Amino acid sequence: MPGPASPLASRLKGHTTTIFAEMSELAAATGSINLGQGFPDTDGAHEVAAAAIAAIEAGANQYAPGAGVPELRAAVAAHQAATYGIELDPATEVLVTCGATEGIAAAMLAFLEPRDDVVMFEPSYDSYAAAVSMAGATRTVVTLEPPHWGFDVADLEAAVGPRTRLLLLNSPHNPTGKVFTEHELASIAELCVRHDLLAVTDEVYEHLIFEGTHRPLAGFPGMGERTLSISSGGKTFGFTGWKVGWVSGPAPLVAAVRAAKQFLTYVTPAPFQLAIAVALDAGSEYIEPLRTELAARRDQLCDGLEGLGWTLYRPAATYFATTDIAASGEDAVTFCRRLPERCGVVAIPSSVFYEHPDRGATLVRFAFCKQAAVLDEALGRLGDFGSITGA
Ligand code: PMP
Ligand code: GLN
Repeated sequence: MPGPASPLASRLKGHTTTIFAEMSELAAATGSINLGQGFPDTDGAHEVAAAAIAAIEAGANQYAPGAGVPELRAAVAAHQAATYGIELDPATEVLVTCGATEGIAAAMLAFLEPRDDVVMFEPSYDSYAAAVSMAGATRTVVTLEPPHWGFDVADLEAAVGPRTRLLLLNSPHNPTGKVFTEHELASIAELCVRHDLLAVTDEVYEHLIFEGTHRPLAGFPGMGERTLSISSGGKTFGFTGWKVGWVSGPAPLVAAVRAAKQFLTYVTPAPFQLAIAVALDAGSEYIEPLRTELAARRDQLCDGLEGLGWTLYRPAATYFATTDIAASGEDAVTFCRRLPERCGVVAIPSSVFYEHPDRGATLVRFAFCKQAAVLDEALGRLGDFGSITGA
C-alpha cells in the first residue's frame, strides 16, 4: 500500500532513510564487523563519563537554559580563544545544540528562504542535503576530485548565482578525510566576502587530525562577521551518543539559529553538557590520547588494505578511509550490500554522499575508529581484493 503523500519525503529525494541505519542493521543481522557508521567501539575517558554521572546525581535533571549551560558556553568560548585566537562572548555568541546535526539543520532553517541556494562540496555528509531540503532551498555542488580531493576555484565561482545565500563547508571532511588547505580556505573566504555570502562550517573533526592543520574559516579576513562555526563534543571526546554540539559566531547569527533550535528540541540534555564542559576545560588532556590512538588505527587499516591490494585514498583526518572498488566491476552500493555475506564486514558506499549519481560510483568508505583487534579481524576477513570480488 503506498504511504501518504509527503511533500517533505518528495523534496528529500531518497534521503528519507539513512545508509548508516541500513548498513548498521545489516551488520547486526549478519554478525558482521561494522566499519560502516562512524562511531568508536570504546568510550571516551572514564573521568568525562563520571562527570555526567555526577551531574545527574547532583540534580542537573531538568530543562537546561535555552542557549546551553553557562559552563559549556564558557568552555567553548575559552576553547576557540585558546586554540584559534577567536574571541567570543559566551553569553551571546555560543549556542549549544543536540549534536552538530541539529546545529546544521537549525542554521539552514534560520537563514534559508524557499528557493534560496546553498553552495557546497560533494561528496558531503548526508544530513546536508536533507537539511537544505527541509528549509525548502536548493543546492549547487562542486565536486572534490581524488586523489587529493581538490577543486577548481573557477567551478566554485561558477556555482555562485543570484539565489546563493550561503556556503556550507566541512573541514576536516567526511567522507574523504581531507583537511582543506590554507590556500583553499583563503579562496573560499575571498569568494564569500565578494559575494556577501553567509558561511556555515562543520568542524566536528577539528581535533581528529593526523596531518596538516585545521584553520577555522571564521578566522580569515572578513569572515568573522559572516560565519557560523559548528562542532561536536561527541567526536572530540569519543561520546557520539551524547549528541552535544555547538554553534558559535556573531550574536545576531547565533540568535537566529537559537530561534530555530527552540522549536526543534528546545534545549540540550543538561548532564552531558556539563560533562563535555569538563572535558573541554581540560585542554588537550582527553583530546590528545584519542587523536594519537586514532592515528595508529588509521595507519593499521590503511597499511592493511593497501597490503591486500585495495586501492586506497589515505585520509589526513576523521574516522574514515576511502577505497575504490572499480576493479570489482560493481557499483559501491551493490558491493557494500554484498560485502557482509562475502566476508562479514560492513562498509558505506560513498556514492550516497554525491549529488551526481555518476560520480563516486565505485568509492567505499571504511571506519577505522575501532579497536586494533577488531581492525585486525576485519583485515583478515577482507583478504586480498581479488579473492573476495573475483576481480
Ligand atoms: N558532521 C559530520 C561531517 C559528521 O561526520 C557527523 C557525524 N556524526 C556530524 C556532523 C554529526 O555530529 P553529531 O553527532 O554531533 O550530530
Ligand atoms: N558521522 C558518522 C558517519 O558519517 C555517523 C553518521 C550518523 O550516525 N548519522 O558515519
